[in-house]
Amino acid sequence: MINVKRFCFNPMQTNCYVVNDENHAIIIDPCCYFDDEKQELDDYITTNNLKVEHILVTHMHVDHILGLNWCQKKYDVVAEGPNNENHWVEIGKQWAKQFGFNIDNDISPLTKFLSDGSIPWGNNGTIEVIHTPGHSPGHLSYAIHDKSSGSSKAFFCGDVVFVNGIGRYDFADSNYEDLQKSIEVVKTAPTHQIYPGHGESFSPNVCNNDA
Ligand SMILES: [Zn+2]
Repeated sequence: MINVKRFCFNPMQTNCYVVNDENHAIIIDPCCYFDDEKQELDDYITTNNLKVEHILVTHMHVDHILGLNWCQKKYDVVAEGPNNENHWVEIGKQWAKQFGFNIDNDISPLTKFLSDGSIPWGNNGTIEVIHTPGHSPGHLSYAIHDKSSGSSKAFFCGDVVFVNGIGRYDFADSNYEDLQKSIEVVKTAPTHQIYPGHGESFSPNVCNNDA
């Protein structure tokens, strides 16, 4: 059975999810920043006896990866995500400095890349990788299936769409038309529940009404 646990981390209030099927576990958007957030995440993983097998990144905006290096080291897993967003690491470091934070040791470029397709995971389940550009060019969504076909149990859409709005498209490499198409992909996804990068999860029905 697939469970989803949401954590809300760092000053930007970004969602980090732990998905598990029995003791198989995935971290989506490793964004814990403060020590107590790292502790909270690890307490959950330890208490539930989970083994982290994948660390998945929806996109490389700094608020989604503040715990990237820590999680990779702690769970001995190489993070995976978009192949064309590593330039955001430098942007994130510079941006943090303007606010008085030094995150040079917290984030780093990805070395393992994903594209559309399915990864076997858990008890006969799969992780479906779906390119959903617009908010950022390489943005990925992840649909978790407990069987190899049919509706997904959980769809992680990052910053494409939220319960009451859509992702920003005012970054230099955003694209509004791509975002519109990606919102459509999320809205029509055969899934039980949608889990965004910020705020509460929602059902596809709610998304259809609001987005
Ligand atoms: Zn973002």
